[in-house]
Amino acid sequence: MRLGKLLEWIFPPKCLFCAERRAVNEDGLCADCAALPTERVFRYFNIKDRRRAYTLECRATKRYKGPFCNTLHRFKFQNEAYLAKPLAKQMALAIKRDQTYDCITAVPVSRERLKERGYDQSVLLAEALSEYTGIPYRALLTKTKHNRTQHFLPSNEREKNVHGAYAAQDCTGMRVLLVDDILTTGVTAKECARVLYRAGAADVSMVCCALSL
Ligand SMILES: [Zn+2]
Repeated sequence: MRLGKLLEWIFPPKCLFCAERRAVNEDGLCADCAALPTERVFRYFNIKDRRRAYTLECRATKRYKGPFCNTLHRFKFQNEAYLAKPLAKQMALAIKRDQTYDCITAVPVSRERLKERGYDQSVLLAEALSEYTGIPYRALLTKTKHNRTQHFLPSNEREKNVHGAYAAQDCTGMRVLLVDDILTTGVTAKECARVLYRAGAADVSMVCCALSL
């Protein structure tokens, strides 16, 4: 028995969805979770900018609840960056098949947060998704302001907190697929989509690992 196999046998990896230590397939799923039909969840947001109005469609294959929250927490905060690949494979199932995208881009974290964590989880997801789908990855967005963590703010404060926190490179005429790990209030997603439209994007859609509904 090879060492890797032996270790896997002693410490089975956790299933991506149920977080149980069980034998998993190449997608990181246990037999029970792999047998579940693929779920698709949606949320829509209206964006008004100057005199134009847009609708941002956000898709995922999971709701943000149950043991899957632990998986995402491990990915985001506990250095388990290898989860980007199996998570991106799940995201690929949520993408609209009949739509063409010119590029994939990520909702970025600030430089301070990147330093603290060592990696940007959304960029890892976007790069892995680009590999699966063949849609090129482009770092169109940068975070220009290290704002306070949204999580602790009341909803009316969140929009103010995030306004002007992102900048986008010129993306004239591009159909952009925006990637983030978790979508909660949608405030960040809306702001990123707004700056992408201002930078010339023809269309912005979004895909995440999980949506909180
Ligand atoms: Zn499972």
